[in-house]
Amino acid sequence: MATSQLCIPPPQGLLQPLVLPERLLLGPGPSNIPPRILAASGQQILGHMHLEVLQVMDEIKAGIQYAFQTQNQLTLAISGTGHCAMEAALLNLLEHGDTVLVAVNGIWGQRAADIARRLGMLGTAGQHRWGFPGGNHLSLCFMQGLARHKPSVLFITHGESSTGVLQPLEGLGDLCHRHGCLLLVDAVASLGGAPIFMDQQEIDVLYSGSQKVLNSPPGSAPISFSERAREKMLRRKMKPPSFYLDMGWLANYWGCDGEPRRYHHTAPINSFFSLREGLAMLAELGLENSWERHRANCAQLCQGLCDLGLELFVKEEKARLPTITAVRVPEGYDWKEITAFLMDNHAIEIAGGLGPSMGKVLRIGLMGCNSTSGNVNRLLHALQDALKRCHRSRL
Ligand code: PMP
Repeated sequence: MATSQLCIPPPQGLLQPLVLPERLLLGPGPSNIPPRILAASGQQILGHMHLEVLQVMDEIKAGIQYAFQTQNQLTLAISGTGHCAMEAALLNLLEHGDTVLVAVNGIWGQRAADIARRLGMLGTAGQHRWGFPGGNHLSLCFMQGLARHKPSVLFITHGESSTGVLQPLEGLGDLCHRHGCLLLVDAVASLGGAPIFMDQQEIDVLYSGSQKVLNSPPGSAPISFSERAREKMLRRKMKPPSFYLDMGWLANYWGCDGEPRRYHHTAPINSFFSLREGLAMLAELGLENSWERHRANCAQLCQGLCDLGLELFVKEEKARLPTITAVRVPEGYDWKEITAFLMDNHAIEIAGGLGPSMGKVLRIGLMGCNSTSGNVNRLLHALQDALKRCHRSRL
């Protein structure tokens, strides 16, 4: 045999079998994937333009229309995570000369503002932000911001996963429209866990993610555009600055424009299989049952946390996001010790804070199939153990 010319040997790690632990994922996502959805993603692949796959895409579209409560034709799943949908929304809606107003109530407003700034077609798309840190929803007079900045888009997060706040949306769509502005809502952390009605609430662009309540692997993100949003995109003078996320192309690929479907990109086909199943499970359970399940288990969790002597970050009960609960890191503890203890001793993931809530809170997610009374009890028991063992005086 000729001597090898390879300078880099095969990596030792890759020559070992893949072994992964089992964990209960009670952080802010991803959540655990039930067997039915795992089985869907493990199916043998088909070609991305095969009729069966196009049929799956049509079913996903119908599932998103149900989950979002919308009749929008331009409804599809982006091949990417929640961030990708956020970028897709902003870069298709905004163009040179536009102003976007970003409501910042945690990290997701900050991220949207960052994306808008980068996009700013190199600094020309105006961008304004306002908000409060902490565990309150935004109650600032939106009218002021709309009248003052005359934005063409208002961005707001429905379920702020960094703080555990649920933002009320009532009347906001109507208000935006009276100011000639489109309403863009992030529902990555809230979809399926808290009521949202895209058409009735006059939301123009709504997006979510697959790995939270939908219990699917990360990598596909439901999104939908109202007729108003579609018209704004059609009026664009310049093409959007991304080919991959160009909604004109994606609309065609998803059969939303009535034209024969053309190849745009090779879709993450197996992710679509699982997203289809995630949406099917939500449809079978029914949205109202799903909302009630998340409400009840979140209430049980909040009560249990208070019984342990912990302080909830969001004071007002109706401002609490039913999918993700933030609880203050108690005096005398380091959040990292608690999360590490739960992981090492109980095989449970919970998370620390993120962005503005970093160091201040622990975040507990109960999403989709993970939102059960049994999981609440298991977590409370483990947390009680952690509180006994992780106090600074014991370390
Ligand atoms: N928005 C919200 C409210 C989120 O909770 C997340 C994910 N934690 C995202 C956007 C970003 O989603 P992804 O991590 O899937 O890109």
